[in-house]
Amino acid sequence: MPIETKTTCPYCGVGCGVIARVDDDGAVSVKGDPDHPANFGRLCSKGSALAETIDLDGRLLHPEIDGRQAGWDEALDLVAQRFSGAIAEHGPDAVAFYVSGQLLTEDYYVANKLMKGFIGSANIDTNSRLCMSSSVAGHRRAFGSDTVPGTYEDLELADLVVLAGSNLAWCHPVLYQRLAAAKAARPGMKVVVIDPRRTMTADIADLHLAIRPDGDVALFNGLLAHLAKSTAIDENYLAMHTQGFAEAFATASSMTFTELMDRTGLGASGLRQFFGLFERTEKVVTCYSQGVNQSSSGTDKVNAILNCHLATGRIGRPGMGPFSLTGQPNAMGGREVGGLANMLAAHMAIECAADRNRVQRFWASPRIAVRPGLKAVDLFDAVADGRIKALWIMATNPVVSMPDAAAVEAAIKACPFVVVSDVLKTTDTARHAHVLLPSLGWGEKDGTVTNSERRISRQRPFLRAPCEARADWWQLSEVARRMGFAGFGYAAPAEIFDEHAELSAFENNGSRDFDIGAYVGLDRESYRTLPPFQWPAPANGIKASASNTTGGGGKEEKARRFFADGGFYHPDGRARFVAVTPAQTDRTSTDYPFTLNTGRIRDQWHTMTRTGKSARLSAHIAEPFAELHPRDAIEIGVGNAALVELKSPHGKTIVRALITDRQTRSNIFVPMHWNDQFASRARIDTLVPPLTDKVSGQPASKNVAVSAQPF
Ligand code: SF4
Repeated sequence: MPIETKTTCPYCGVGCGVIARVDDDGAVSVKGDPDHPANFGRLCSKGSALAETIDLDGRLLHPEIDGRQAGWDEALDLVAQRFSGAIAEHGPDAVAFYVSGQLLTEDYYVANKLMKGFIGSANIDTNSRLCMSSSVAGHRRAFGSDTVPGTYEDLELADLVVLAGSNLAWCHPVLYQRLAAAKAARPGMKVVVIDPRRTMTADIADLHLAIRPDGDVALFNGLLAHLAKSTAIDENYLAMHTQGFAEAFATASSMTFTELMDRTGLGASGLRQFFGLFERTEKVVTCYSQGVNQSSSGTDKVNAILNCHLATGRIGRPGMGPFSLTGQPNAMGGREVGGLANMLAAHMAIECAADRNRVQRFWASPRIAVRPGLKAVDLFDAVADGRIKALWIMATNPVVSMPDAAAVEAAIKACPFVVVSDVLKTTDTARHAHVLLPSLGWGEKDGTVTNSERRISRQRPFLRAPCEARADWWQLSEVARRMGFAGFGYAAPAEIFDEHAELSAFENNGSRDFDIGAYVGLDRESYRTLPPFQWPAPANGIKASASNTTGGGGKEEKARRFFADGGFYHPDGRARFVAVTPAQTDRTSTDYPFTLNTGRIRDQWHTMTRTGKSARLSAHIAEPFAELHPRDAIEIGVGNAALVELKSPHGKTIVRALITDRQTRSNIFVPMHWNDQFASRARIDTLVPPLTDKVSGQPASKNVAVSAQPF
């Protein structure tokens, strides 16, 4: 009898429900889960090709030490001994974990507990730093907490959807399908796309603003100044629930219209159309993603957007609000358990003594990290200069994905002790590991993930763990036990989830938003069958505003939203406007006259270690490319499909030219996915400098000055 298992897609932050079917002969097929509130049965090309990516070809099946097969005991003993040794000799800040939005929440929880509560350092950061940390920082500045106020349904209920720095059609395809279907059903709905390129998403846009890279703060400041002079301002909301409007308005209105056009690269007509639409439309959702976050001014961009929604009171009500689109399947779950170097656990603040005390008492831990740890770029700098003596990398490939990737590779190579937990035996990062630990892959893992709308869903196993592969939470717990720490005797992920839920509810009188206290004490069977749900779900009732709606797909569900009636998490309950000033955006020079923006394509995921296995997915775009404007291509003498060499002061790469008028002049787009395993010399992040946002620490993977010439 075929067996069907409900699980969740492991790729993007939409978090689609998947039904995996295993036939009697072991053949696996997948389809969308019609009951899952994220996708209602839809899947995109990547999700529907999942069954093509789960073979054992290339899998890491046994622990390895220095390239030879080893037993689990020997490998785990060595990891515990080397980490303990480094801590004893150099202190807790001499070790670090670099983890991933691919980890399940249970894995993340144990990693964070071990590092912050027992080792006593906050040197645990994640590739989610590269994805959404500017949104986290912007939320915390404005709301007092990292809270996404809205739901996916809001995109369908809105009369205007603004997509800033988001190629939704390729990067969050099922959410795009939901938006496109809503627009087809209600043609009066307007869509504005703000992106230097005319992407596939722009094909459904009523207005495309080909903004200059990093022109977003100026654009949304201009919008705020415009709104402040209109009737769209919600004076009552401003007075009751916010503070700091006058200063934000003064800063925003200090720019002339000519300066605004110059900084954004946009014409007067486009700007006026956008401002007029926003002013006139009450139900407006502004979605933002990596074009906003991956910037040296990412946090300011987020706050510039939040300012406009706070000023109009368009937040937390059906069809209204700012909406951060997370890139990864569990970037949000990682935030919930404190998987960033500057967070604690259950959304508590590492800077807050009361929060530290609460978490330490709950964990009964011998110590607690007292200050933020090293964020991703700083962490690899510390590896490079020898401050980090032992590094554990889990479920990520920083040798390809980090900025200044060649320097990161050199740092990892020189680190005295590197552990890599992965599903694959040979990745660009794994080849530099002293110890390789075989992890479970999608279809074998068991736990939870949280999507962009705060919905927690189960990833369920339907395949047997191959050979000696084991869960990441188990690997961490075994190392913790061997380091002499109590409190890691978990027998199953259900026990970790229960502890996580209990911590979220511990001494939580409603002053902290993240609460899943209703799920404390789930037995194994209830955890196994746990349906998708949104937080908050406190045992003592829902604090957030709730509206009786039908979930956009006919499924009965209460859409949970925040802040329609204030209730922000700053001590006075008010949101903060943040006065933000546009930064210098043009980094080009005579030697490096082009602006490079990196990004995703429709059918590949991250560094292609999984999607690269599917011939069907590779058929969409078979090799790396550089999108060039036709005039630029003529000027540098590159023909379509010819090879072009891109250079920055940090590195160079060679890719094929794709000449298209969808690209803005002087801009070049290159996908981030390819690496040396799939295409020689195509690691685009070797060109990206280690420049970060000063508040969030998120690297600027866009707006990189490069040269381009025929190869
Ligand atoms: Fe998976 Fe994202 Fe596609 Fe949904 S939209 S199937 S979560 S990749």
